[in-house]
Formats: sequence, C-alpha cells, structure tokens
Amino acid sequence: MLTAPDPQRLAGLVRQLLVELGEDPDREGLLKTPERVAKALTFLTQGYRQTPQEVLNGAVFESTANNMVIVRDIEVYSLCEHHMLPFYGRCHVGYIADGKVVGLSKIARIVDCFARRLQIQERLTEEIAHAIQEITHAEGVGVVMNCAHLCMMMRGVEKQNAMTVTSSVLGSFRKDPGVRAEFMSLVR
Ligand code: ZN
Repeated sequence: MLTAPDPQRLAGLVRQLLVELGEDPDREGLLKTPERVAKALTFLTQGYRQTPQEVLNGAVFESTANNMVIVRDIEVYSLCEHHMLPFYGRCHVGYIADGKVVGLSKIARIVDCFARRLQIQERLTEEIAHAIQEITHAEGVGVVMNCAHLCMMMRGVEKQNAMTVTSSVLGSFRKDPGVRAEFMSLVR
C-alpha cells in the first residue's frame, strides 16, 4: 500500500502547474490554492491507502439467507486515469450470499475504496465485483455502473449527455441467465 503524499511537495507541484498554465500563484485568489488542491487530491486518491478488508472492519456476518441482495444507486465519484478529470454517477451492487453477508453500508465503502483512485470505469466495476466476491465467497455477484465523464463532456467529443454503462458479473450472475436477468431488471 502507498504512503500518503507529502503535503508540501504536492502543493509545490500544483504551484508549478499554475505557473506553467500562465497564472500568477501569488495573486490573492490563488494564494492557498496549491494547499487546497493538494488536500483535495490526497482525499480523492485515498483509496490507494486503503484495502477493502480494512474499510469493512470485520462487518461480515454468518447468514443462511441465499436470496439476492441489491444495493442500488450508490453514488460514485472517481477520477479518470487518462485525464485526471472526474467521472461520476451511480453504481448498483447485487450478490447472492453463500453463508456470509456483508453490512449494507459497507458495500458503499468498498465502492469508495476503489473509486478514490485513478480509474477507468471498466476496471472500477470489476474491482468492486471481485472484492465482494473475495470477501463474501458469494454464489454470484453483479455490479452495474452508470457514469458521466467530464473528460468527454468538457473536452474531446464534448458530449454532455453520454452515459457510460459498465457491468461485471461473477459466479451465478455470469452462468445463470435467469439470475442475471433478475439482477438487471432490479437495477434498471
Ligand atoms: Zn478521461
């Protein structure tokens, strides 16, 4: 796991970036900007310094239930690794337990653990699915994510309404078309 970035060094790099962009980092409005950006970036990448096990903090419980559990509409905020610009949207996570369930609020924490890194949406979706699979040994896991990418909206193709949908299905969600169809209909 990575150590936290050095705040002063990071702020110094942001200051250099401002100069390179043609700004005057000593003008009043920008005086504290390097420190603020450094702090924001450190927060937005804190997932590098977390593991799913750690954010879970033991919240895995024995259970005989084996129906489908779905947590819908988890807000996702991440940074694309190609432009370091935000992408954001919603994520739906479902699984069928096989003896172990995870605290529902912890599912959102697991999403954040991977979202707060430089990502591509496809990998983020898969990492969440695999983490839930590894933690619960679920019979099946499904993750669907629907995001808007600022790198597409503000630059490049400048498409403001394009949403990117990704999904990752494991175990019975992959093998059993009926299970997958049930999941997809519940998250739509
Ligand atoms: Zn991008």
